[in-house]
Amino acid sequence: MFRQIRAKNGVVYYVSDVLLGVKHGFATRIGGVSVLPHTASLNLAFGRGDGEETVLQNVELLADAVGFDADRLVSVPQIHSDRIFTVTEDMCGEGVVKKALREGDGYVISQKGLFAAIKTADCVPVLLYDPEKEVCAAVHAGWRGTFSRIAEKAVEKMTDLGCEPSSIRAAIGPAINGGCYEVGEDVAEAARAALGKKADLLCTVGKAEGKYLCDLKTANRIILAEAGLAEEHIDVCELCTHCEAELFYSHRASRGLRGTMMSVIGM
Ligand SMILES: [Zn+2]
Repeated sequence: MFRQIRAKNGVVYYVSDVLLGVKHGFATRIGGVSVLPHTASLNLAFGRGDGEETVLQNVELLADAVGFDADRLVSVPQIHSDRIFTVTEDMCGEGVVKKALREGDGYVISQKGLFAAIKTADCVPVLLYDPEKEVCAAVHAGWRGTFSRIAEKAVEKMTDLGCEPSSIRAAIGPAINGGCYEVGEDVAEAARAALGKKADLLCTVGKAEGKYLCDLKTANRIILAEAGLAEEHIDVCELCTHCEAELFYSHRASRGLRGTMMSVIGM
């Protein structure tokens, strides 16, 4: 189950019961210092209209709320790939307090004191944790990432580090829901290529010709189950970023003029 937390400093974020034991948080847009109508108020990405200092102040606020050090956070530019990095000491701060030297869409962490964040505004943030081996991961899953099975690739990286899929927990965060996410034939095609017949469960025929409604949260849930996770270890947030304009930024709802949320994890 997802629960809303209101930190002392005003930052509002969500946590998942399956990730108790690891520091994490799915930020909302509430509790920051951004004042532009489209970024107010907890915009956590550069290049959306806020000054650099404003974004860094927001990162500090989130860090303070969740309980980590902003200097220890990695969040490099995302490219809708299936590229996942194993976070190392030298990456600390990349894309946040210092220049990013790489691009990619996922992180695996096995070392204490390192944190990683996924940036989204409709795409699906997935956070993972194995309490047995103390390894965690985060992935950015838009439709390209989802259907290139980036969530499963994170599980594989975790198993490379000694984790058993059966002990891995996953929280699928706030994102656009199926009913609000109309897509074209290209996405439906990618869904079928990734999931075979199961694609029919989450990519249903839409109103207009050649249009579908696509449920990326369910897609990631299915992919994680196929990767060996127990159903009871997968927590799906029901909140829709497109519907909850007060709580979240939505790329679709705002036609691209929006801030960006972060979903962060680390030990
Ligand atoms: Zn919606």
